[in-house]
Amino acid sequence: MIPHMPETPEITIPKELLPRDGRFGAGPSKVRAEQMAALVADAPHYMGTSHRQATVKNVVGEVRDGLASLFTLPDGYEVLLGNGGSTCFWDAATFGLIDQQSQHLSFGEFSSKFASAAQEAPHLREPEIIKSETGTHPELAPHDGIDLYALTHNETSTGVSMTIRRPNAEGLVAVDATSAAGGLAVDAQEFDCYYFAPQKSFASDGGLWLALCSPAAVERIERIAASDRWIPAFFDLKIALDNSRLNQTYNTPALATIHLLNSQIKWMNENGGMSFSTGRTGRSAEILYSWAEASGFARPFVERADQRSHVIGTIDFIDEIDAAAIAAILRAHGVVDTEPYRKLGRNQLRIAMFPSIDPEDIALLCGAITHIVGALA
Ligand SMILES: *Cc1c(COP(=O)(O)O)cnc(C)c1O
Repeated sequence: MIPHMPETPEITIPKELLPRDGRFGAGPSKVRAEQMAALVADAPHYMGTSHRQATVKNVVGEVRDGLASLFTLPDGYEVLLGNGGSTCFWDAATFGLIDQQSQHLSFGEFSSKFASAAQEAPHLREPEIIKSETGTHPELAPHDGIDLYALTHNETSTGVSMTIRRPNAEGLVAVDATSAAGGLAVDAQEFDCYYFAPQKSFASDGGLWLALCSPAAVERIERIAASDRWIPAFFDLKIALDNSRLNQTYNTPALATIHLLNSQIKWMNENGGMSFSTGRTGRSAEILYSWAEASGFARPFVERADQRSHVIGTIDFIDEIDAAAIAAILRAHGVVDTEPYRKLGRNQLRIAMFPSIDPEDIALLCGAITHIVGALA
C-alpha cells in the first residue's frame, strides 16, 4: 500500500488553543524541562566520567532504590538493569528466564515480538501463543508445564491495557511494562519480572532496560546460568544481576539516560509516588476519552472502557474526517507524534498521556482537534 500523503489544508490554530508542550509521542516521549536543567547543572562533574566510579554508581543506586520505593517492592525483590532496551530484554529472557516453555498473550506489535523470539529459540519448547482481536486482550490459560507467563501491561501499538494478576498456577509472571511502568498501577506481588525501558513514562532516553525481579525470578536466572545452556554475555541475566548489585552495567551505559531517569523517579516519589503519577494519567485519560465520546466525530478505538489505556489513547475518526490530515496540521503547529501506530492502518490518532504530559495539555489538544475538524468541514 502506498502511504497516505495528505495535502495539508491551510488551517491556522489560534495560539491560545494550542497545548503548551507539543510532545504527545509514545516514545521517545516528552522530557520535562526540569530534568534537562538538572542534567545540565550536574554535567560538569557527571557527564564524561567513568561509570565504574562513585559519581555515576551513586546515581544508578538512586535509580534502583527509587524504583523499589515507587513500586513498593516486597523484601527480596531486586532491580536489574542493562543496555539494549526492552527489545534486548526479550532476547535476554529467551536465554535466561524461560526454562522450557512459555505462554504469551499476543495482542499487538510488541507482545507478538517476544512470542516470536521464544518461538525461534532452538533451546526452548514451542511456546503457547494466545491471541485476541486487535483492540482487546486475551486471557491466560494456565496449566502445568508452563514455566513463564508473558504478559504486556500496556500494548503501545493499540492502546489496550490489562490488569496484572498471577494465574492460578506455577510459573513466573514476566510483564512487558515498557510503556506502562510508572504510569499504570501494579501490585508487585502479582509479578516476578516487570521490565521496561526509560523513554516512555520515565521521560528519559532509550537504550536501557530495567527489570524488577522477585526472588523466584532471581533464583531462575541463577539456576539457568549455572546450567550448560549457551548464553551470549550481552544477553546473560546473571552477568546483569551481578553488575546491577554493584550499581553498574555490563558495558558502558548512556549516562544522560540514567540521569534523566533518576530525575523522573525522584519527581514521582517526591510528589506522592505511584498515586501521584497514576493520578495524572488517569485525569488525562478521563479528559481524552470523554471528549472523544462526546465529539460526534471520534470515539475511543478500544471498546471496553476497562481495557482503555491511561497512558496511550487511540482515537478513531469517522470516515469523513482524515485523521492523517489532523496529525499533519497539528505537526505544522509544533504538536507532534499524534500519528497512529504505522502497522495498525486505521483512521486514527494515538496520543500519549504519560505522567510528564500535563492533563491540561490533553484538554487543550482535544480543543485544538475540535477546532481543526470544524475548519476542515
Ligand atoms: C516501546 C516498547 C517496546 C520497545 O522498547 P525498546 O526500548 O525500543 O526496545 C517494547 N514493548 C512495549 C510495550 C513498548 O511500548
